Amino acid sequence: MPRRNHMPDLLESQPDSPAASADARPDPAHDTPRDTPHDGARDRTRDGARDGAQNAPQRVRVMLPLPFAGALDYRMPPAGTLHPGDIVTVPLGRRTETGVVWDTHLRLPPEFMPPPMPTVATGRLRAVSARLDLPPLPAALRQFIDWVAAYTLSPPGMVLAMALRANAMAAAPRPAAGWAVTDTLPPDLRLTPARHRVLEIARLGTPLSTTELANRAGVGASVVRGLVQAGCLREVALPTPPAFGMPDPTHAPPVLEGEQADVARALRNTVAEDRFSITLLEGVTGSGKTEIYMEAIAACLEKGLQALVLLPEIALSSQWTGRFARRFGTQPALWHSDLGTRLRRVTWRSVADGAARVVVGARSALFLPFARLGLIIVDEEHETSFKQEEGVTYNARDMAVVRARMDAAPIVLVSATPSLETLANVGAGRYRHLRLGARHGNASMPQVRTLDMRADPPERGLFLSPVLTGAIRDAIGRQEQAMLFLNRRGYAPLTLCRTCGHRMQCPNCTAWLVEHRARHILTCHHCGHNEQMPPACPSCNAEDSLTPIGPGVERITEEARATFPDARILVMASDTLHGPAATADAVERIARREIDLVIGTQIVAKGWHFPHLTVVGIVDADLGLGGGDLRAAERTVQLLHQVAGRAGRAEAAGHVLLQSYVPDHPVMEALVSGDFTSFMEQEAEQRRPGFWPPFGRLVALIVSADTPEAADMTARALGHAAPHLDGVQVLGPAPAPLAILRGRHRQRLLLRARRNIPVQPIMREWLSRVKPERGARVDVDIDPISFL
Ligand code: ADP
Ligand code: ZN
Repeated sequence: MPRRNHMPDLLESQPDSPAASADARPDPAHDTPRDTPHDGARDRTRDGARDGAQNAPQRVRVMLPLPFAGALDYRMPPAGTLHPGDIVTVPLGRRTETGVVWDTHLRLPPEFMPPPMPTVATGRLRAVSARLDLPPLPAALRQFIDWVAAYTLSPPGMVLAMALRANAMAAAPRPAAGWAVTDTLPPDLRLTPARHRVLEIARLGTPLSTTELANRAGVGASVVRGLVQAGCLREVALPTPPAFGMPDPTHAPPVLEGEQADVARALRNTVAEDRFSITLLEGVTGSGKTEIYMEAIAACLEKGLQALVLLPEIALSSQWTGRFARRFGTQPALWHSDLGTRLRRVTWRSVADGAARVVVGARSALFLPFARLGLIIVDEEHETSFKQEEGVTYNARDMAVVRARMDAAPIVLVSATPSLETLANVGAGRYRHLRLGARHGNASMPQVRTLDMRADPPERGLFLSPVLTGAIRDAIGRQEQAMLFLNRRGYAPLTLCRTCGHRMQCPNCTAWLVEHRARHILTCHHCGHNEQMPPACPSCNAEDSLTPIGPGVERITEEARATFPDARILVMASDTLHGPAATADAVERIARREIDLVIGTQIVAKGWHFPHLTVVGIVDADLGLGGGDLRAAERTVQLLHQVAGRAGRAEAAGHVLLQSYVPDHPVMEALVSGDFTSFMEQEAEQRRPGFWPPFGRLVALIVSADTPEAADMTARALGHAAPHLDGVQVLGPAPAPLAILRGRHRQRLLLRARRNIPVQPIMREWLSRVKPERGARVDVDIDPISFL
């Protein structure tokens, strides 16, 4: 079934569901975001008043977390009025669903407006079942959900589902009970000394629990229970202690001097303005960006507002929260998909009622119901892991900017190697720019040099040049640490038969199987297919003929163990470290110097602070440059610069060695010189003439089907129906690089448009003219990052 843009089908297949509302008309007065969103109460009256004036009072729109084209119409329950944002249950077919009372008018730019939906006659409306005792979804969040849905061409209910996935829908936890003295004591009360003491203490005013009351009076709990039975104590709800501590901005502020002080002051001023603005905080690794943006958080806390910090990878959060606690005296709230149910509910509520003051999380934290959002930070803004590729495809960095606008809050994008998109926005004057030029304290930038693999090749069958192994040996000899980086999991990326040339391939994907020797399997990194390594070639039956080609981290680890038999080696890869706790443990062992050599995939590139690490070897600096990805060079520079940045973060100088067969490549030159700015200027000049991002917009269409024919016919139909417009070009259809993925046949089309052309209406119109073949579906990826 097609996932997007075919919502009417879904509606028709639900004959007894109420049809979507017809009220989705543009409302020019609300195209622009509201300016004072921090007042939830005022907000609600405004919404309520407008509903009363312009809508039949008995009709209410409810958005359900389901793939409908819009909100559905229901009848107001007889017992009272509902306001936009209220969380309710409604009948849908024979089921009961939880949804949110939605706004009558979408506040979206005109080009984002979805087409109007048919109305249901008032007589046919079904009534809302109940209003749940939960904090309402704030207006800014509702508007954000509508915006993300319209921008990504996703059903708004699926975006709402991300906001409700918290499963915060459970009723409020029952508050703990305490006891207060009743107004009149029963006349026949037998007042023992023990009872007397309990009543004395209970009369002091603060209600106490049974245990607490008994303890303070120095009596057993049975005395308290006896008084309850005698009617002397009545139950009162105890105030629930806040789930999160109050971060104290004055707890341990850093000493800031020079440019750090200037930048911190500028950021504090930005937060003090308390309005929407976008700032890029750029600074080399180790320059104190994190330290400085903590000052922006402090300024936000001083204003009594909430702050949201987005990290590209939740594995990073342990080091981050520890640092936060040292600065502010308490832990921040954490948000990611692996939170336990209870913590998830408590956190959701605390964000909604404002008790959670600082939230650090992965991209899904963008959909939390902040009561008074005053600042968003996006750390490592260039990271492509901010793009969600499954379900609703959105880029959390870009959507964070939208969220900041809706909440009228400042946003700070942070990076040592900002994306070209962000740099273009700086260049156009849309973003402010703050820079930190030098590393903090005595640390200097690591020295980077290329190692020409043609001149200094490794021994036959090995992958580390003697120059690199020499540098590592020296570092370990000086009691320092070294790191080897290779962005490839497993033992070998390809297994080949030396006799017939057969390659071990995934049966479900256009991909080679990767050998994972430790687990004795061949596995597909795209679909998870596993098989045993066969004893003979499946094609020619030759025995002992299957040979691993190329290295993965496992193979590098094997080589390192043989080369440095006494070194304490730690492997950090996403399939060897399970979860944030394991990662945190590994990082602590490195910090405690229990490790001499770290070998890792991209997980080691992240913002870790390893003070004793002085030598970093990049096993294959050319790895990311292949393939037709338009951002291949940019991403390679960003990734390798970040890995390099792990070296020499304290007193001892750092050295980075790049193993490369193309040492003259502009990417290597940029890494060696550290002149990232010139490199990005060259990148910009390459993309500008063809209107490639950020100078134009891209939309990818991915057709996938059970059969090659269905994929092919759907793709060709899309090709025939392609728009012919000035400044718009459609490339394809063509088989996707991953022509088969999880058994589905794939074709791609790419729409490229000038930057000033809104692509959403074009896409909506185009897709409405093509009906996918049976078994085929069309996925839309606005601003694609992956082209596989
Ligand atoms: P970045 O985020 O730019 O990589 P960090 O904020 O992590 O840099 O700073 C690098 C190291 O220097 C950290 O250990 C940090 O605590 C320390 N540091 C940076 N600025 C200061 C400062 N003003 N006072 C004390 N320590 C600092
Ligand atoms: Zn596969």
